Formats: sequence, C-alpha cells, structure tokens
Amino acid sequence: MDYDVIIIGGGVGGLTLGLTLSREGIRTLVVEKDPKGGLVYKGELLQPKSLQILDKLNVLDPLLPNSYQLDRIHTFEVELKEGDRPQTLCHSRLNYNLLPTKYNHARMAPHEKIRALLMESAERYPHFEMWKPAVFERMEDRGNVKAAYIKKGKEVFEITARVVIGAEGRLSKVRKAMEVSLHSMQYNHHFLTVTFPRPPSLTEATIFAARNHFVGLFPLPDQQVRSVYMIEPGRYKEMRKAGLEPVFQAYYDFMPEMKGYVDQIQKWKEIQLMIPIRHNTSHYVDNGSAILGDAAHSVHPMAGEGMNMAIQDADILGELLIWMKERDQWGKEQLDWYERVRKPRSEFISGLSHQSALVYSFSSRPWQKVRMRALRYLEQDPRLHFKHLLNISGMGMWKMNLLDWPRHMGFPPGQTKRYRMGEEEMERRFFTEKDDYPWRTK
Ligand SMILES: Cc1cc2nc3c(=O)[nH]c(=O)nc-3n(C[C@H](O)[C@H](O)[C@H](O)COP(=O)(O)OP(=O)(O)OC[C@H]3O[C@@H](n4cnc5c(N)ncnc54)[C@H](O)[C@@H]3O)c2cc1C
Repeated sequence: MDYDVIIIGGGVGGLTLGLTLSREGIRTLVVEKDPKGGLVYKGELLQPKSLQILDKLNVLDPLLPNSYQLDRIHTFEVELKEGDRPQTLCHSRLNYNLLPTKYNHARMAPHEKIRALLMESAERYPHFEMWKPAVFERMEDRGNVKAAYIKKGKEVFEITARVVIGAEGRLSKVRKAMEVSLHSMQYNHHFLTVTFPRPPSLTEATIFAARNHFVGLFPLPDQQVRSVYMIEPGRYKEMRKAGLEPVFQAYYDFMPEMKGYVDQIQKWKEIQLMIPIRHNTSHYVDNGSAILGDAAHSVHPMAGEGMNMAIQDADILGELLIWMKERDQWGKEQLDWYERVRKPRSEFISGLSHQSALVYSFSSRPWQKVRMRALRYLEQDPRLHFKHLLNISGMGMWKMNLLDWPRHMGFPPGQTKRYRMGEEEMERRFFTEKDDYPWRTK
C-alpha cells in the first residue's frame, strides 16, 4: 500500500490536514487509534484565523448552526462576599469586533462536532482514506519514501508514503521516531472543566477572577456553557470526596444566577480534571516527516489556542505539501518551509499563553492590583487592545515592545486618549499570503 501522505492521528489537526490534501487530489491516509472519540473535553473555542481556514475548506457554513458566536470576552475582577453578590472591582472587555475582517469574532463549538464536520467533508473526496481504529507503531527510512507500520486489528501493515505526519497529540510516536527533543513544564494550578446548561443572562464569554479563584464561562450552542474552574494541584481527589455541592457553591459565589443550572451536573464523572502542560520541541521537520498540533507544541489553555494552533499548522503544511506534490519535490529542503513559517508563530503564542497563565497564578493582593491595572489599560489603550486581539486571533503577530510594558500600567498618562488606530493601519498588521505561503514567491 502506498500513499502520498500518511497522517497519524485523526484529531482536529490531522483531519484539517487530511481534508486540505484530499481536496487537491493528494492520496492521503489518516490513522486514528480511538474508535469512538468524544470521551474527553478538548478545545472548543475557534479563533478568527481558524474560522478563515475552515471557511476556505467549506466547513464554516455547516459549523454555523452548531456553534455560538463570541464577540467579546468579559473579565471581572471581583471580591467574593459570603451570602451576597460579589463586588466588581474591575470589568474589562476584549472586543473581537474591532478586527477589520469578516472573521471579527470567535466561535464556540463542541470539539467532537468540529471533528465530525471535518471528517464528513474529507470523506467526500476519493483520495481520502481513514483507518479507525488503527495504531501507528514505528517508521523506517526507505530511500525516498517512508515505511510506516500500522496495527489494525491483529495485523501489522507496512505502508509507504512520501511523507509521514505526526498529528497524534502530546504523546506523539512520530516525534519520538524523529528524535525531536522536548522541553516540558507544568503549572501551579489545575482546572476542572465541565459543560452544563446556562442561564439566559449568560450570553457572552465571561471570566471571573477573585484573589484565590478563577472561573471561565464560555457559552456553547443549545443553551449550554463550557466552564473551567481553577484548583490547586492535588485537591481533585479531596474535592471528589466532598461531593458536588461545594463545586456548585463556587459557581454561585461568582454568579448567583447559576442556581438551577450548574446543579444540573449529576455526577463527578461529568467533570474532567485538566492538567495544563506547556511543551516546546527542538524541530518540526525531518527528512520525509513532520509533526503538527499538540505533537509539536502544547500550550496552557488560558488563551484558548491549542486547537487553533493545530488548525493553523495544518493549513500551512497542507498548502506546502500540495505545492511539493505539484513539483514532485519531497525533500527536507521543501518541508523546512513549514517549520520556518510555523515555529516562530507557535513559540510566540506559547509564550503569550504562558504569560496569560502567570497573570492568574499568584494570589497576593498587590499582584491582583497589578493585574487589574494591566487589564484596564489593555481595554482602554487602542494599540494594546488591537495587539492582543491580533495575536490571539491568529490573523497576525505583533510582539510587545519595551514601551508596551509601561503602557500596560497606564504610562505615559493620557496615551489612551491621544492615540487611535485606523482600519488600514490594522489591516497592514494581518498576515499576507506571502507571509503564510512564502515558498510560492521564492
Ligand atoms: C480539557 C481541554 C480543554 C482545551 N480547551 C481548548 C480551547 O478552548 N481552545 C483550544 O484551542 N484548545 C484547547 N485545548 C487544546 C486542544 O484540545 C488541543 O490543542 C488540540 O486538540 C490539539 O489537536 P491535535 O489534532 O494536535 O491533537 P489531538 O486532538 O490530541 O488528536 C490526536 C489524535 O491522535 C490519536 N492518536 C494518538 N496516538 C496515536 C497512534 N499511535 N496511532 C493513531 N492515532 C493516535 C488520538 O486518539 C487523537 O484522536 C484543550 C485541551 C483540553 C485537554
């Protein structure tokens, strides 16, 4: 059996790549070990750049009725009051609508729905094939092809391809075979994450932070909400023993309207423990192989970027592989373009997600004050606001400079009133086709 490309892992990254390639007549095999999927919560927030890519693949229209549009993310810094509504100390908004593009919002969609839509679209193309359940075991170099050993049922098949892609998540075996080195770190907090019905008043993404607590609420379609609740590492077991009532109470403390909604969670089994991990890798590409998505980089979930990075990797790598096939050039020299475009962007987003996590990692009162000030100026200073939006949206990359740090604290005073950004100035910051696919013009 021989293919142009074998993709190990049928997650969102692997399927986006599979669809991109098979639409262009590239013989593609996707290998997925999990027969069912949907057993764990995963990324659900789609950033603007991902919406643009899904639109290009004709997956956005069918996604619209299955997703919920997010125009703004509200962050409330509060003081919790026993038996009373919390006192709001600071309220700041991040407004996606400021982006001068038709993709000027984010969308929340159940992860399995996104996967299912990608899968349905890909299956329409004769060059797309999926083996599920099947497991990648190892690979070998065979001159100008790679041989991958795939276990399906009791049999192990040897399959050759010009390129093997590792899209199998954090524990990638392709990455291991490529001898990629990994740098990992963990955080001083974990999260509980769960989906439940939402009160009608909860129509926008809302984050509540108190000195020692953090809750994120992200509306989903069908009057559901996906929530994340920060806990100290090691508390999970103890919390399970205490039953569900203290968890419900934690949500009521932030938002009394949650009564009658969060308590529809029936058992602890519905709540998933999420341990944030950040890892970076030494390289993404080797001779005849590459890694994408969580196999290449794992980020703290605070900025909602992991799944988006996988989709954006798949877009760049897919367009490159199409170009390589047209020329019948499959060398590392060509494949390197993918790493050149994606690695700096992924490392930047990884750093940004890490910074966002640090903002909520300390609970002292002075730190809370600094955080509130930074959040206030992030909303009020048009340049800081746009920079942050641009970066998390994936539509462009504009690094913080030395002057931005004092601006975050409101220095020099009056800056927010003096400066306005025009649409043209913003658009100039978007990635161009040349930035995304530079090999086409070189
Ligand atoms: C609880 C949680 C919440 C998250 N929230 C967000 C969010 O809001 N926004 C966001 O952008 N990201 C979020 N993420 C991160 C996001 O889910 C991941 O970054 C994203 O799923 C990565 O996609 P992927 O395709 O690279 O890998 P995965 O989704 O992990 O897919 C890998 C696939 O490979 C398969 N596989 C593994 N090994 C093999 C093998 N040997 N052979 C064959 N198949 C194999 C697996 O079964 C799996 O289906 C969250 C993650 C978690 C866990």
